[in-house]
Amino acid sequence: MNFDLSEEQKVWKKTVHDFVAKVVKPKAREVDETGEFNWEAVRKGGPIGLLGMNIPEAYGGSGVDMISSAIAMEELGWGCGSTALAFTAHNGLGTAPLALYGSEELKARWLSLVAEGKNKLGALALTEPGAGSDIQGGVITKAEKRGNDWVINGAKMWCTNASIAEYIITLVRTDPKGGSKSLSMILVPTDSKGLKIGPAEKKMGLHGSPTHAVSYDNVTVPLGNLIGPEGRGLQQTLATLDGGRISIGAISVGLAQSAMEAAVDYARQRKAFGQSIAEFQAIQFKLSNMATEIEAARTMLYKAAWLKDQRRPFNKEAAMAKLFATEMAERACYDAIQIHGGFGYSSEYHVERMYRDARLMTIGEGTSEIQRLVIARHVLASE
Ligand SMILES: Cc1cc2nc3c(=O)[nH]c(=O)nc-3n(C[C@H](O)[C@H](O)[C@H](O)COP(=O)(O)OP(=O)(O)OC[C@H]3O[C@@H](n4cnc5c(N)ncnc54)[C@H](O)[C@@H]3O)c2cc1C
Repeated sequence: MNFDLSEEQKVWKKTVHDFVAKVVKPKAREVDETGEFNWEAVRKGGPIGLLGMNIPEAYGGSGVDMISSAIAMEELGWGCGSTALAFTAHNGLGTAPLALYGSEELKARWLSLVAEGKNKLGALALTEPGAGSDIQGGVITKAEKRGNDWVINGAKMWCTNASIAEYIITLVRTDPKGGSKSLSMILVPTDSKGLKIGPAEKKMGLHGSPTHAVSYDNVTVPLGNLIGPEGRGLQQTLATLDGGRISIGAISVGLAQSAMEAAVDYARQRKAFGQSIAEFQAIQFKLSNMATEIEAARTMLYKAAWLKDQRRPFNKEAAMAKLFATEMAERACYDAIQIHGGFGYSSEYHVERMYRDARLMTIGEGTSEIQRLVIARHVLASE
């Protein structure tokens, strides 16, 4: 593995960084306070390829490698947790399974529509009120064949982007008998009759990233909206989540990096006991820990992304990188608040928002407990 980025990746990093510094980071507080989604980031991010990272060029995407995608998600996380989550839900969840498993007809119709940044996004609904970690056993939303259509009934929960998406890829049970071949993915346009998107959930953080419950009451879509073969939904979901974990880990590294930069700035200018607090070893050690752990997490993510790019197994590495990066981001944001003292607890400073945003990362796209189960499976299998 080459530890240096390629020239192309370096140019990409700078392009995304400059875009985030101009269009995303300055609006982070506003989207948190108002709950308004940053549409400008979509309009301006589309043309530089940020909405088509998992979409091949033939369908209007940028089709970048996974390391470049991780770089972009880190930069977006550095700028704004909410906007980063919406972008990863669009790229990693809303378009990746369609690009990988969708029919030519579906890809031609939907992928180019959402790649360009014309206020159009995708979403993925796996989780249900009674099923999150246990998707295989818990999903009860069902799709039945009726003539040339699928008829879908059920309810989903926590769907990022639902209210701002053109379609929701929905995981449904197509075989009531259950088992590992009983789930399928179906593309459901958000203007479908019978589809109801609930109000935005009131969350601890990530206020600028809309999350919704979605219900399906006899929602009817053509049989051709099936993504991949019938009964492959579980396998497609697990493969999608492996990639998504790298992205959530990358957002976490970005949040931690941003928190550390804020802590460094504050530590330099704040005086106590007649000197800058940056001169206290207790403060320096916190910064050293942050810097070291951020670097470790980034390296783990790049390794997982590199393995994916090489088309080698990366399930264990993605789980390890997500586990470490997301828990590390919480520690980094915690210490950044500590370094700010009382001001760190105030919304006048950015670190309290970062702390709230980082909290989701150990839950979404597989909790820390589920990452540990995945890792343990590999560890035990090799002994
Ligand atoms: C802001 C936000 C955005 C989200 N976006 C999306 C989205 O776009 N699409 C989507 O489909 N979902 C989304 N989710 C849902 C998210 O992926 C789930 O919340 C997550 O997978 C956990 O599922 P759960 O909430 O049902 O928790 P549960 O699965 O009920 O877990 C509860 C607790 O039990 C633990 N647990 C469960 N099983 C085990 C086990 N076998 N061993 C040990 N511990 C276990 C969990 O780790 C957790 O601590 C989002 C959630 C949030 C909060």
